[in-house]
Amino acid sequence: MVGYCKKCGFIGGVVFNKKCKNCGTKLNLLSEEMKQKYRIFNDEWSALVFEIRKLNTDQEKSKRIEELLSRKDNFIKNEVANNPLFSIEEYENQVKKDKQNLCDVSQYQENKVNGQQVENSIYAHALHYCKKCGRVVLIVADKTGYKDDTCDYCKSKVYPVPEKYWLDGSASLITNEQKELLREELVKTSPEFDQYLFDHRDGDLHKRWNEQEAKFALVKAISEGRDKGNKFGIECPYCHATNIRKITATSKAMHTALVGIFSMGRNSKQWHCDHCNSDF
Ligand SMILES: [Zn+2]
Ligand SMILES: [Zn+2]
Ligand SMILES: [Zn+2]
Repeated sequence: MVGYCKKCGFIGGVVFNKKCKNCGTKLNLLSEEMKQKYRIFNDEWSALVFEIRKLNTDQEKSKRIEELLSRKDNFIKNEVANNPLFSIEEYENQVKKDKQNLCDVSQYQENKVNGQQVENSIYAHALHYCKKCGRVVLIVADKTGYKDDTCDYCKSKVYPVPEKYWLDGSASLITNEQKELLREELVKTSPEFDQYLFDHRDGDLHKRWNEQEAKFALVKAISEGRDKGNKFGIECPYCHATNIRKITATSKAMHTALVGIFSMGRNSKQWHCDHCNSDF
C-alpha cells in the first residue's frame, strides 16, 4: 500500500504504522485512481526507479529523477496542497530529503540536481486568495487554459496573490507566515471580508475533507467486498474480501438437492465469499 501525508506531501510505502516518516502525521492511502492519474507508484514507476540505477550518465539520471519528482509534485499541488493541514515549509523539507534519497539510490551527485530548478508553466500565477473568507488556494488552469476562479470554500471570486507574498519568486509557493500577513493586509481590510466564514473556514474544510475521505473509503470497501465484514474475522483466500458467510447445514442440503451428487465437494467447505462466490 502507498500512502501520502497531507501535511508535508510525503508519498511512499505504508508498512505497519501508518505515520508519516517525515513529520509523524497520520498517512492517507493513495487510491489506484490517483496512481493512474498521476502515474505515480504504478508498475511503470517501479520500472523507472530500477532503470535509474542502471543509467550511465549523470545527465540521464538527473533527467529521470526530475521527471519522477515532478509527477509527485503534480499530485501534491493538485490534490493535497489545498487542504488546511498542508505546510509549505514541511513540504520543502520533505522534497529535499526525497531528492536526496533518489540521488543516493542512483549515486548521483547532488549538486547537479540542485543546479537547475524546473519552473512548470501551468503553475504560473496559480496562488489565489479569497477576500471574503481568507482562503489561499492553488488554482491551476485545465487543458483548455480555463481557470475556475471561485473559492472552493465560500464560492466567492478569488484573486491572484501579489508577488510580494510569494516564496522565492515562485507563484505557486507561499509560507504560512506570508499567508497570515496577506490575510491581515488584503483580506481583513476588504469590504467583502466575512468574519464568520474567516473563523470557520479551516474547521469546515477539515470536516468536508474527512467526509469525502470516508466516502472514498466506503466506495473502495464495497468494490473490494469488504464493506460488511463478518464476525468470525475471516478473509476470502482468493480475493481477500471479508463479506463472508458461514455455509449452514440447510444451505448445504439445499445445494446438494438442487445440483446433486456432483457438487458434493461443496459439503466439505465451511465459508462462502459473497464477492467472488468461492467456497472454502
Ligand atoms: Zn508528513
Ligand atoms: Zn472564500
Ligand atoms: Zn472471494
